[in-house]
Amino acid sequence: MPLGVHVSIAGGVSKSVERAVRLGCDAMQIFGRNPRSWIYTPLPEAEAVLFRKRRKEAGISPVVVHTNYLINLTAPDDAIFHKSIDMFKKELGIAEAIGADYLVTHLGSPQDMGPAFALKRVSFALLEVAKSGLGRTTRVLLENTSGSGSGFGSRLDDIGRIIRGAKDNGLETGLCFDTCHAFAAGYSFSTRKEADSLVERIETEAGRSILGAIHLNDSRGGLGSKLDRHADIGRGAIGAEAFRQFLNHPEIKKAPMILETPKDSDEDDLRNLAEVRRILGQGR
Ligand SMILES: [Zn+2]
Ligand SMILES: [Zn+2]
Repeated sequence: MPLGVHVSIAGGVSKSVERAVRLGCDAMQIFGRNPRSWIYTPLPEAEAVLFRKRRKEAGISPVVVHTNYLINLTAPDDAIFHKSIDMFKKELGIAEAIGADYLVTHLGSPQDMGPAFALKRVSFALLEVAKSGLGRTTRVLLENTSGSGSGFGSRLDDIGRIIRGAKDNGLETGLCFDTCHAFAAGYSFSTRKEADSLVERIETEAGRSILGAIHLNDSRGGLGSKLDRHADIGRGAIGAEAFRQFLNHPEIKKAPMILETPKDSDEDDLRNLAEVRRILGQGR
């Protein structure tokens, strides 16, 4: 299973590859651009070419791009909704230009409009993506969220509905399963039995063979707390034993794993990577 971390794009996207290499990653995740701004500057062609070259030389696979946090594909406000679709397509364009395998997105917040409205909104957004011809070389992955506030996307069955709807419109998408968000949303996997039944739920509710990537995070909040607060692997409320049961499940082990654990320096990433390798080495 390819294992990596989210790395910075400071100085340009092509600079991110050496950071991933330095940490000993097989896989990596980056933002395609500033994650907290609407200001869009197109990615220079030379930068995209350089990224592809360096990534190929480093043998890193897969490359995952995470969307900007302002994008809200379920926004009730029409102006924000359409601006979000536009920015989403631009970021998918960046992801395809650099040869990324996946673009991971959250499903935003419909505020007080509720899940049925949110489902319609995001389905419309993905239909627009399908019509644009984007999303063929880079696959869109929908990330499960923690269920905090009015955020949409904490339920696997909702994500499954969106994935099936997009497929009917000719767009193959998939799931990015975040362990912290799932745990905070109430999905438990502390024992082998629980881990097995969670994998079964992923397959029956979200869909079989749609697991594109795992976001590996322990959780500061307890089971069902709805808190989106990441912790070091084995040092949060999920704990090492739950990760051992879940990550060593044969279906989960196939998926690329990306750490998004708290980071002050490279040491933090290195420690978390080592802990995940230790857990994977133990088997079930
Ligand atoms: Zn995310
Ligand atoms: Zn999170």
